[in-house]
Amino acid sequence: MMVFGPVPSRRLGRSLGINNIPAKHCSYSCIYCQLGTTNKTYIKRKSFYSPEDIFADVQEIIKKSRKKGINIDFITFVPSGEPTFDINLGKSIDLLKLLGYKIAIISNSSLIWIDDVRNDIKKADWVSLKIDTVDEKIWRKINQPNKMLRFSSIISGLNNYSKNRNFVTESMIVNKVNSNENHIHELAEFIAKLNPETAYISIPVRPPANENAKKPDEKTILKIFEIFSEYVPKVELLINFEDDNFIPINDIENEILKITSVHPLKEEHLESFLEKGNTDWKIVERMIKSKILKAITYEGNNYYLRSLNSLK
Ligand code: SF4
Repeated sequence: MMVFGPVPSRRLGRSLGINNIPAKHCSYSCIYCQLGTTNKTYIKRKSFYSPEDIFADVQEIIKKSRKKGINIDFITFVPSGEPTFDINLGKSIDLLKLLGYKIAIISNSSLIWIDDVRNDIKKADWVSLKIDTVDEKIWRKINQPNKMLRFSSIISGLNNYSKNRNFVTESMIVNKVNSNENHIHELAEFIAKLNPETAYISIPVRPPANENAKKPDEKTILKIFEIFSEYVPKVELLINFEDDNFIPINDIENEILKITSVHPLKEEHLESFLEKGNTDWKIVERMIKSKILKAITYEGNNYYLRSLNSLK
């Protein structure tokens, strides 16, 4: 078991991570996994580390962080595999809550058909559920699930969990695997019915398990964002690194990059943003020239999106 951080998280501020299962203990072998191929997939929950040990480790790190004046926003179950395999997850959450911090879980949703899994994760304050596809054939291709898993059970588990509950979804989009426009419509429609707080769209930004798992280009990302936005009230992109070390020339550039990593900006919105910052369009031209921002035309409108080149 490993407690790490606190580290900056794209969605959770400063997050203290808990690796509550052994490395790569997962039900999937996603083609885009940044941890490499899963040699053996599982579907049975097990006991790995005692909740008391996890609690003691977390408590220790919190003490050290406090001494250094480092703030913690969330304690997050984000192991190098699937956190719901831990049969003691609910118990660990109950214990950790005594420390007074918010608890987050990032899950691949593959075990959500199990009643106890749903009961465990609903104890957390923030839950992210992976939904890359609503098409079984694509699911087999992109997530390469354990043979015993049933896609229909996962879909009904998601429907079941979503009732009266707060959660977010994350969909990893791989070029030419699940990026097709018709499929994106179906996926967005399904996610909209689940009614998440936010639907996050991510792309492979680190070396994937399968070298053919490529990120879509900016134009496709923009299209996907726009299609999702037709169905889901709050959509955000996750296309930058957590540990992004790009140093912008000034604050306004930094702000533009931060916004366009999450939302493509329409030209008129970018213009008024610049106006408010008492600056002009030259800054955008410079950013485009240095290939950190990209201009894209979609359905007659000009948009600006953080360039994927700036992530290399
Ligand atoms: S679910 Fe997560 S850990 Fe498991 S293979 Fe997919 S990306 Fe990797």
